[in-house]
Amino acid sequence: MRESTTNNDTRGHFIGGREVSGTESIAVVNPATGNEFGAIPDGDSDDVDAAIERARARFADWNDIAPAERGRILTRIAETLRENADSIAALLVRENGKSRSNAATEVEIGARYFEYYAGIADKIHGDSIPLTNHYVDYTLREPLGVTAHIVPWNFPVMLLGRTVAPALAAGNATIVKPAEQTPLTAIEIAQLADDAGLPDGVLNVVQGYGPDVGAPLAGHPDIDGVAFTGSVPTGRDVATRAVENFNPVHIEAGGKNPHVVFPDADLDNAIEHTLTSIFTFNAGQVCSAGDRLILHDDIHDEFLDRLIDRVRELTVGPGEDNPDVSPIVSETQFDHVIGYIDVGREEIGEPVIGGDALDRDGYYIEPTIFDGVTRDMRIAQEEIFGPVLAVLTFTDEAEAIKLANDTEYGLVAGIQTTNVNRAHRFARDVDAGQIYVNEWFAGGVETPFGGYEMSGFGREKGLEAIENFTQTKNVCLNIDNDLE
Ligand code: NAD
Repeated sequence: MRESTTNNDTRGHFIGGREVSGTESIAVVNPATGNEFGAIPDGDSDDVDAAIERARARFADWNDIAPAERGRILTRIAETLRENADSIAALLVRENGKSRSNAATEVEIGARYFEYYAGIADKIHGDSIPLTNHYVDYTLREPLGVTAHIVPWNFPVMLLGRTVAPALAAGNATIVKPAEQTPLTAIEIAQLADDAGLPDGVLNVVQGYGPDVGAPLAGHPDIDGVAFTGSVPTGRDVATRAVENFNPVHIEAGGKNPHVVFPDADLDNAIEHTLTSIFTFNAGQVCSAGDRLILHDDIHDEFLDRLIDRVRELTVGPGEDNPDVSPIVSETQFDHVIGYIDVGREEIGEPVIGGDALDRDGYYIEPTIFDGVTRDMRIAQEEIFGPVLAVLTFTDEAEAIKLANDTEYGLVAGIQTTNVNRAHRFARDVDAGQIYVNEWFAGGVETPFGGYEMSGFGREKGLEAIENFTQTKNVCLNIDNDLE
């Protein structure tokens, strides 16, 4: 068990198996108080070069380790993360603001990614292809080489594990660029992975701002693949840079996800899942948040009244107190969410509940619901990424599906109904990478995840993620060539 972190957390990059400091620094702020409690180096392209050089030097050795042994090392990383779960979760609460229970869940999922991909490390193999008896033809699944992993602030532990674990399982050496708002858990995980026996230089972390570190990393000629999770504009920039080098890239971007409730649904269940979908999990700062609630006209009034009663019971406060709704990650994001509440007021008037910041230090916003939202409004179309719910209504199934599809995004969609045929029609007709039926945030590390349309391309999680970090080589032999 490592020592728990102190209130003055100054950490560095992690390059070649050791922590490296920088000269200029970026402050790390606790969203619960607005106070600085740590710092990281303000990295640049020289740090990116150094990390790539170390990763490149270690790639061949790592790839040469027997896959089963790579799996054992990943298993030990998962175990080490679990042994240190309390201190990582405490650090996560401090840097991101999320509640203690949300942080504990996230650390467990982060560990689970390493455990899951540990079991796959020795099952990544090619095929043999029949081409007549004169040939032997087979495919090899080879790692890409050195891969870049650009991570956002909303789930810094889980999303690091989500792309780094499959990349390592497939034999790649990795470089992580954490979000500058939540950089400390990444360095902690890299150190713990080192403690667990991961060879030096196979998991590197370069700290800094996106344009100074993320951009040169994504476009670096010595990078062989890029995994990006974050916003649409950054994703577009990252994808463009990666494609310049013809590097494989996958993009996990934003969402504006529809949650459709039919009159035949179990309304108690639907209400509880609505709360989780937008308020009580990371204060709605979730790409797959259920930020558009689409209610059938017949149940709209009852559902909304009951939902508002439940929202009144939610506590808002510091992550340390394990509230229902935790603070927003940063002042910038706080301003962004408050800005959208102002847009909502202009578009439709007062919210039916919430709408204000708490009068205290830190970045707290009340859970907020706008009713009577129509499809053309900005609060129906744009990702707010906070505890703000837009409520729309529909009269029949065709209209529900049309509304569900009516944004530029297509990440996830949810339906509440007891009609199994309707649930399958919804799954068939809605353009989203994942469909939830009667439960929001369903699925696990095993289930493929990713977006349609502007929500991105490529799939993470599950077996499919291995595709992101391998390339196929075909070997074709004419075995009769040497016959007279
Ligand atoms: P962001 O795009 O601002 O930043 C994401 C990461 O990219 C950070 O590490 C940042 O430093 C880096 N970055 C910034 N500019 C860069 C540049 N020019 N080149 C390379 N890297 C750069 O996103 P954010 O605000 O941190 O995260 C919120 C967004 O992430 C939301 O849109 C959310 O929906 C999305 N998200 C998507 C998923 C998913 O799985 N689809 C998961 C979580 C978050």
